[in-house]
Amino acid sequence: MAKANNPMEIYKLLDGSNCRKCNEKTCMAFAAAVFKGQRSLSECPYVDAETVAAYEDPEDQKDRQQADIAIDVNQTVEKFREQIRQTDLEEAARRLDARYAKDRITVKVMGKNFSVDTEGRIYTEIHVNPWVTVPVFDYIVNAKGTPPTGQWVPLRELKGGREREGLFVQRCEKPLKRIADTYTDFFNDMLDVFDGKRTETRFDADIAVVMYPLPRAPILFCYWSAEEGMESNLQVFFDTCVEDNLSIHSIYTLGAGLVAMFEKLSMKHAS
Ligand code: SF4
Repeated sequence: MAKANNPMEIYKLLDGSNCRKCNEKTCMAFAAAVFKGQRSLSECPYVDAETVAAYEDPEDQKDRQQADIAIDVNQTVEKFREQIRQTDLEEAARRLDARYAKDRITVKVMGKNFSVDTEGRIYTEIHVNPWVTVPVFDYIVNAKGTPPTGQWVPLRELKGGREREGLFVQRCEKPLKRIADTYTDFFNDMLDVFDGKRTETRFDADIAVVMYPLPRAPILFCYWSAEEGMESNLQVFFDTCVEDNLSIHSIYTLGAGLVAMFEKLSMKHAS
C-alpha cells in the first residue's frame, strides 16, 4: 500500500483533470486504486518522480516490478510455444542429439528429462518455471546444435555479453560467491543434485564444477577460497558453443534461474 492515510491524500497529489490517461475514469478512482496498491502513482503522467518516491513503498514498487517481469516472461513463453508448434521436433532432436518419440522431444536439463510435445506442452520431473522454460524452448527452436568445445570464456566475451556483464556480476556471480562462502555443501550439492562434474581448468581454481543446464550449453563455476589477505572469489565461464545454441537473453536467464535455485537450496540448508 502507498504511504498515505487515505485515498484523498493521494488525490491531492493529482492533476484533478480526469484526463483518463491512466485508464481510470476519474482521478478519484485512480487515487483509490493507488491507495489499495493496485496501481502505481507513477502511472499518472502528471506526478513527478520525487513525489512518487516519497509516497510509494519501495517494497510495493519491487513487487510490481517483479509482477511486470513475470507478465513479460509469460508472454515470451507463449511466443516460444507458438514457435515450437511450427518446429519439426524430430529434426530438432537430430540437430541437438536429443531423443524423439511419440511426438515429443526430450532434452536433459541438469541431467533430468524434460520433454516437450508438438503443442509446446511440457512433461518433466523438475520444477517448471519460465526461467527454465524460455531457454529450453529457445534451445529446441534455435540452437544450431554445436557440441561443447572445451573452451571457456566469461560472459563478456560472448556476443552481446558485454552489455549484460554488470548485471550478471550483481545478479549471478556475487550471490553465488556469497552462497559458496557460507554453505559448505554447495559444491557437493551441485555435483549430486544437479548432476555437475568436477573438472580441471587452466584457471587454477580450488574448485571447478561444470554443470549442464542444457547438454550443449555447459557452464563452469570456478571458486577460489579465501587466503591470507585475499578474499574468496567465484567466477562463471561458458563453453563457447553456447553462442551457437542459445541467445544471450537465454544465457542470462539460465544463469539467474540457477542462482535462484541455489539460493533456495542454501536457505533450506540453513533452516
Ligand atoms: S492520468 Fe492523472 S490526471 Fe489524468 S485521470 Fe489519471 S490520475 Fe487524473
